[in-house]
Amino acid sequence: MTTPSRTTSRMTTRHLADGREIIYVDDPGTPERTAKDQRPVEPRVQSGEIRHDALVDDWVAVAAHRQHRTFMPPKDECPLCPAGHGSVPSEIPESDYQVVVFENRFPSYAVTSLGADVPDASGIFGTRPAVGRCEVVCFTSDHEASFKDLPVERVRTVIDTWAQRTEALGAIPEVEQVFAFENRGREIGVTLPHPHGQIYAYPYLPDRTKALLGAARRHHERTGRLLGADILAAERADGSRVVVSGTHWTAYVPFAARWPVEVHLVPHRDVPDLVALDDEERDELAVVYRDLLGRLDRYYVAEDGSPVTLPYIAAWQQAPAKTGRDVSR
Ligand SMILES: [Zn+2]
Repeated sequence: MTTPSRTTSRMTTRHLADGREIIYVDDPGTPERTAKDQRPVEPRVQSGEIRHDALVDDWVAVAAHRQHRTFMPPKDECPLCPAGHGSVPSEIPESDYQVVVFENRFPSYAVTSLGADVPDASGIFGTRPAVGRCEVVCFTSDHEASFKDLPVERVRTVIDTWAQRTEALGAIPEVEQVFAFENRGREIGVTLPHPHGQIYAYPYLPDRTKALLGAARRHHERTGRLLGADILAAERADGSRVVVSGTHWTAYVPFAARWPVEVHLVPHRDVPDLVALDDEERDELAVVYRDLLGRLDRYYVAEDGSPVTLPYIAAWQQAPAKTGRDVSR
């Protein structure tokens, strides 16, 4: 069950030259978004197929066209800066924006897919169309900024955007999981330095989600309680790994951390996804999340004493769109 998205932001949906959707998320009172994409009309790139990886019983998107995507362009060729700021056409027709979302030009998943639905009786070479959606979320028009530098109000705009997209994408019949994330840093594999994140709407449950859901279900069958809630309560009672303790949120280093630097940020209330967060929870999330990202850049210090900008993957693990929502939190 979800509750309506709580946002005062104005969302304006328009279309790019190749037909992809672009959604401007603006404070009320911002001038209307009417700019046309000046690029020539061209057919949109469709997604390929997902292949069954029989070895681990998982699915993998095979997207050959992604080999041709833009890789680390100089600043004046950045496709995520607003139009008119560089030497190449932007993905964003407006000359400025606050937060903007658009369909990825080189999608691993799209509503129209070239992939074939070919089940394989042997269970080894099965393929399905890569139906779903991949979106890019630009957090700011400022090329040089980082998420942690955004004003708290703008972080809140991004949170509202993630929630609205989670609700909209989760409603697509084929979509099983909506995954919003930000990769920062060349070391993590970022191909565009402009501050942005992505949202993947998968037509299957990724491995990690399947594992989380399985553990949550087994715990619920055994105890009648939610595993996420029990872990949070245990971490709060122990306290030794707690990084931030808020009214609505707690951040802690997981007991069995897998990364050199790993923090889980979880809500106190049992909610399945970002959509279900109320206003107060979203407001505090904006403050706490921004604070956490700032800490990452103060964690390591170089030999000359200067702070090290830490590459990171920040991702929101939400309940699946269609199944297991009663045991996920
Ligand atoms: Zn840029």
